[in-house]
Amino acid sequence: MAVSSILGKFGGRKTPGHLADGPIGSEDFQARLDLLDDFEDLGISWLWATDSTNRLIYLSRSAAGVLDKPIEDLLGKPLASLFEVERTDDAGASQRPLNFLLSAHSKMADLAVRISGQSEEVWWSISGRPQLDTNGDFKGYRGNAKDVTRALKAKREAERLAEYDSLTGLANRHRMTKRLDTTLTAYQASRRSCALMMLDLDRFKQVNDTLGHPAGDDLLRQVAQRLERIVGKRGEIGRLGGDEFQIMLPDMDDRGKLGEIAARIIQMISQPYSVEGGRANIGTSVGMAIAPYDGLTTEELVKSADLALYAAKGGGRGQYRFYSTDLKDSAQERQEIEGELREALAKDQLELFYQPVVEAGTGRIASCEALMRWNHPERGPVSPAVFIPIAEESNLIVQIGDWAIRQACAEAKAWPASLRVAVNVSAHQFANGKLASVVTSALANSELDPERLELEITESVFMGDKDALETTLKQLKQLGVRLALDDFGTGYSSLSYLRKAPFDKIKIDQSFVRGCTERGNNNAAIIKTVIDLAGALGMETTAEGVEAQDELDLLRKQGASYIQGYIYSRPVNNEEFLQLASRDSLILTPQGPAHHRSDRITLYRKIGVIHEDHYYRAVLRNLSKANASVDGILGVPVGTNLVLDLSGGQLAVCRVVSAQEASMVVEFETPLISDGADGYCTRHRVSPYSLAAAGMPLAALPPGSYPLAGMERGPKSRPAFIEVEVKLRSEH
Ligand code: C2E
Ligand code: MG
Ligand code: MG
Repeated sequence: MAVSSILGKFGGRKTPGHLADGPIGSEDFQARLDLLDDFEDLGISWLWATDSTNRLIYLSRSAAGVLDKPIEDLLGKPLASLFEVERTDDAGASQRPLNFLLSAHSKMADLAVRISGQSEEVWWSISGRPQLDTNGDFKGYRGNAKDVTRALKAKREAERLAEYDSLTGLANRHRMTKRLDTTLTAYQASRRSCALMMLDLDRFKQVNDTLGHPAGDDLLRQVAQRLERIVGKRGEIGRLGGDEFQIMLPDMDDRGKLGEIAARIIQMISQPYSVEGGRANIGTSVGMAIAPYDGLTTEELVKSADLALYAAKGGGRGQYRFYSTDLKDSAQERQEIEGELREALAKDQLELFYQPVVEAGTGRIASCEALMRWNHPERGPVSPAVFIPIAEESNLIVQIGDWAIRQACAEAKAWPASLRVAVNVSAHQFANGKLASVVTSALANSELDPERLELEITESVFMGDKDALETTLKQLKQLGVRLALDDFGTGYSSLSYLRKAPFDKIKIDQSFVRGCTERGNNNAAIIKTVIDLAGALGMETTAEGVEAQDELDLLRKQGASYIQGYIYSRPVNNEEFLQLASRDSLILTPQGPAHHRSDRITLYRKIGVIHEDHYYRAVLRNLSKANASVDGILGVPVGTNLVLDLSGGQLAVCRVVSAQEASMVVEFETPLISDGADGYCTRHRVSPYSLAAAGMPLAALPPGSYPLAGMERGPKSRPAFIEVEVKLRSEH
């Protein structure tokens, strides 16, 4: 059948409206019909027509060929029967609108429909116009159709590629963000919670570098599989790029369960992998945040989980962390400190303090360790334990470290000639290749004898480029400066470093000295081994952080060459040191407690204590799973029930088990759970929604920190106890 054959079926006008309007000659008419026949045969588009009951009265022959049916079988059938009913695909196409349009005699344009009864998916796009007779009555449709299967599949594939990571098949960043957006918006309305985990693989770069990229890709695929096995249907996993993964866990706010999942992920990811070219070992760190507590929007929640991940990595990797307000505060402070530290050098706010290192046998000062101090105009003195790690991360350490070398050499020149100066050198200074020239010029400018300069390096330098390290070590030795291995025992403590690197001295870290005289403590044995080992390798030893008389006695007995610690002197400024060094003998007398005191205060955190309708401010001094010591409220009888506000919606019901003046010990009703680090947190939190219900608008609640609504607005009745100020004792 060809177009020409159906024209008569509509009767009436010889020239149907869509073919020609005015009167035309028969030759011209035939030419147009031939053209249409050609057009149909090409299969670019097919033509179809129905009668007034929407049964097919015409279909291009080539279309019938595609449907694999003789044209005679198709004619007379309802048009809608060619297509699948109620079948909706990703493109949102379904037959329902077709039925609707057909019965309403409406025009249809590019409607996607799936052909029924085909084993392979076939999709057509159909368009059609209703035909009316001169009375305005419906006579049927005329229209065209084309196969859009390929285009549709391509569109679907493009959508899949846009939403999924091609390497692992997991959702990509785009999809995760979209899913989080929709979930969090919906959950906010229905007040549900949703947890977010951020993962970063540890040592992945090493696998990529040593075994090659195909092995790295293989590893990522296996990581994805392991994650899928653990998470299952509980949530959606995404790969954000590189070695970063994200897991969304809807309706999850139990930090106990989350901690278990995170621990399992860490354990499973750390199992060895067999990849192209060998075996690989990696680890992972996990950061977690929960909506609505730690953020209401995707942006807030991701930021919180990121901060938690950052803390997990900083905590030594292979760990998990929950977001807490402290993390946000410390991240902010780090950023501020970094900015201010950049200016500190120029503004002359940095200073070197010197701590004497004495000969163990005689107590005579042999050298001094230069320790950097930052006298901040507003913050006051900032500890290097705070600013050195920040400087290391931002690479500022190279500048300030170089300054320390020059400054130490210049000041030491004025000291008695028998005294050495030891300067701490960061691994970053070692790695940048300029250390030897900085030392050379510092020595030249100060005219200090190279023998009097000692550089203290930590084991972290061995993690960098081996060749660069060897070159630098060789250059430094050629200059004639001495090298000490600092904080020995706290890092990787590989003996191979000791054999390879030309150290003159090993510094035994203070964590071994601390408590070495206590019974049942094996620190003494470790110290003895290190001292013997150093002796065998022809190196000297310095014991750091010696505070008590019994520690000093033990270290002397075990044969440490030098002692450094508060027992002889704290770090002092250059002026004070010059006074110390002006004594003829240079001998210091030990002054310290007879024994090491182990009752150090480990924790000092401001918390809230709720009793009846009063909110007291107090200080948390010690926290374990089951108990807490709280200072700052006078006269609380044993047996009183209290609620501790540990911040961020963490409320813990407890009972006072002992009390003395303003100090008490409480026992929790439900034990706390581990926060992944050394701390504890409550399993559940009071939702900001509950607080909103108590009259506090949700938007006013910053993520992760919300005080108790109403509680802080002042007492309604006479408080039962007296709040007293607790001095925060500092360690030194
Ligand atoms: P470090 O090199 O191990 O320095 C020893 C630290 O122990 C110093 O802390 C010192 O004040 C402290 N200390 C000494 N004796 C005792 C004691 O008896 N008891 C106790 N509790 N502590 C004692 P400080 O000055 O806070 O420095 C901390 C760390 O900061 C240093 O550890 C070092 O790693 C780093 N640092 C300090 N100055 C510099 C510097 O100029 N450059 C670099 N790269 N790092 C530095
Ligand atoms: Mg040191
Ligand atoms: Mg040290």
